[in-house]
Amino acid sequence: MLRFNDIVDRMLEYSPGLDLELLQKAYVYSAKVHEGQERLSGEPYLVHPLEVAGLLVDLRMDEVTVAAALLHDTLEDTLTTREELERLCGEEVAFIVEGLTKIAKIEFTSVRERQAENFRKMLLAMSKDIRILLIKLADRLHNMRTLQFMKEDSRRRVAQETLDIYVPLAHRLGIRWLMQELEDLAFRTLHPHIAEDLERQLTGNRAEREAYIEEVIGIISSKLLQAGIHVEVKGRLKELSSIHKKMESQDITLDQVYDVIAFRLVVDGNDAACYAALGLIHGTWRPVPSRFKDYIGNPKPNGYRSLHTTVIGPYGERMEVQIRTVEMNLDAEYGISAHWKYKAGAAGEHQDDERFLWLRQLLEWQQHLADPHEFLDAVKLDLFPDEVFVFTPQGEVINLPRRATPIDFAYAIHSEVGDQCAGAKVNGKMVSLRHLIVDGDTVEVMTHPNQFPRKDWLDFVVSGKARNHIRQSIRVVERQRAQELGRDLLSRELKKTARSLSALESSGELDDLAAKEIRGGDRDALYAALSYGRLSAATIVKKLHGEGESTASSQISKGAPVQERLLGFFKRSTPDPSSQSGIRVSGLSDVLVRFGGCCDPLPGDDVVGFVTRGRGVTVHARGCRHVFELDPARKIDVEWDSRDVVPRKVRVRATTRDRPGVLAKITNAISSAGLNIAGVKVTTDEQGRAQQSFELWVENAKTLDTVLKEISRVKGVLSVDRVRG
Ligand code: MN
Repeated sequence: MLRFNDIVDRMLEYSPGLDLELLQKAYVYSAKVHEGQERLSGEPYLVHPLEVAGLLVDLRMDEVTVAAALLHDTLEDTLTTREELERLCGEEVAFIVEGLTKIAKIEFTSVRERQAENFRKMLLAMSKDIRILLIKLADRLHNMRTLQFMKEDSRRRVAQETLDIYVPLAHRLGIRWLMQELEDLAFRTLHPHIAEDLERQLTGNRAEREAYIEEVIGIISSKLLQAGIHVEVKGRLKELSSIHKKMESQDITLDQVYDVIAFRLVVDGNDAACYAALGLIHGTWRPVPSRFKDYIGNPKPNGYRSLHTTVIGPYGERMEVQIRTVEMNLDAEYGISAHWKYKAGAAGEHQDDERFLWLRQLLEWQQHLADPHEFLDAVKLDLFPDEVFVFTPQGEVINLPRRATPIDFAYAIHSEVGDQCAGAKVNGKMVSLRHLIVDGDTVEVMTHPNQFPRKDWLDFVVSGKARNHIRQSIRVVERQRAQELGRDLLSRELKKTARSLSALESSGELDDLAAKEIRGGDRDALYAALSYGRLSAATIVKKLHGEGESTASSQISKGAPVQERLLGFFKRSTPDPSSQSGIRVSGLSDVLVRFGGCCDPLPGDDVVGFVTRGRGVTVHARGCRHVFELDPARKIDVEWDSRDVVPRKVRVRATTRDRPGVLAKITNAISSAGLNIAGVKVTTDEQGRAQQSFELWVENAKTLDTVLKEISRVKGVLSVDRVRG
């Protein structure tokens, strides 16, 4: 059993100035709270945190990481609270242990290939500190080493999960030995018979193999030494899992797998020394074509650098050789953790420096990548959290932008689910649709067939998919409403004649006319045009009787009523009425817009629109009394177009004392605000007060407010108001 003192001794080798007290506190506390608990193996539970801590020492981690490793199961499995941990070992350790506890709560159900990547990302997203992930990997390795004490089915589940989630993570982080051991243990668990069989065959010729390794090492060492290259050569049997992989992929038996042994040359020198060594190897044994890989010139996505080649060895067998420098070897073995340098002295700035150093290193690696997403995408989640990973009730992982709400989630599931989203539960509790979901939440959406997307959802959704669908659905609903109104209009107009609308619809007559009036249009387009005032019902009825002219451009005939002629004039002179009015009608262009004479809204005022019968959309101030009298079914969303600034005429009335000079002062206040006065009218009453009415050209409500304030400050002014209606 690994003892605490062994851990400390090994740490002192690489970090002589370590905070021994922190480690001792963590150890004593962990021993206390795990007391009496046992592992499935029957050993005291404490063995597990000690072993995990030992693995992190193998990775040369700092004392915060090792202390957190000693405590990693205390929040999860004992009565310990985060506050206690923080008091005892500080914020950093408490944060890491808490992070590990959160991860432990994720259940990796139904892992399929498509899902595995999401799970891995979720794990990364939840590991806000890379040390959390390293402890998690060490924890998993020790659990895999002691898997034999579990039941058969749990054993297989854990092994499969290790293969799907943790092996790729260790690979990405570049910690090769850890990845290989995890992979090997998983292989032995999932394929126990194949593993046993392979092992038996391989031990059968162990002595022979060892002699062979000795011989090859001898040849290589002397050749390289003659050339002045110092090198450490190792020959090792490859992992069972990789031998098996080779047999599977090439469909061969063990006898046919020649390169079960891999030789590794760790060169004492630089890149050039590696290429020189490669030259000597290729000069000694014939290289197998297309087996040479230059990962020095072209590092792997996880940062791995080395030269790989396969040659025909002394007995005509294939021999795999890897060549790398001491530094590259360290990177290959320890990956990211090799760059997690032990920090001497206090935490604080140093730590930030180290983080950035590490990040820079990642970015440097990134520059060498063929697929730049593969590596950095995965790690950046720790550093630039812009995504959140949540579960469906079925345990699938859904990936959303940060600050996502249940509506975003619903649209990510399916656009129909989004459109009918009526409520949501997060982790089993009802929440509002604006609720912000966080990593690891389980989200459930309630739908209702009568629910429709609402415009205010646009205020808080963050995903493009949700936004687009909501806009689109609102447009469809409003268009339908416009068509119903248009149809209603035409039907009323037709009542004056003997014809019935439904007969015209079924005869196809109406579609024919629509096609003539609106390019590519059908009767629905015609109805919409009627309701927005682009066409008049009276004209259409005339045309149906064959009276009107047949081309759309001359739809307003000379004989048309004055109002219609004016309408036609307006339309012709302003091809895009919306840009003239400064109003945009939601989702629709080319809509005739008028302002309610009752309230004269100004840009910046809160406004609503109403579809009128055949005369486009009338815009009122939201508080206008007319709004309450109008049919709510005709209501339509409108907004001010901030790109177009169109001055509008408003009336302002000031009540003043009837004194000379007051009018001059007021007009002065107005023109110094840059406004033009269109008209002035002054009346006086018997009480010696004057009513001064102005018509002003104003661009927006804010300017008007400012001017009203200015006027009210003029000496002699009793009150000043905007006059509506
Ligand atoms: Mn554990």
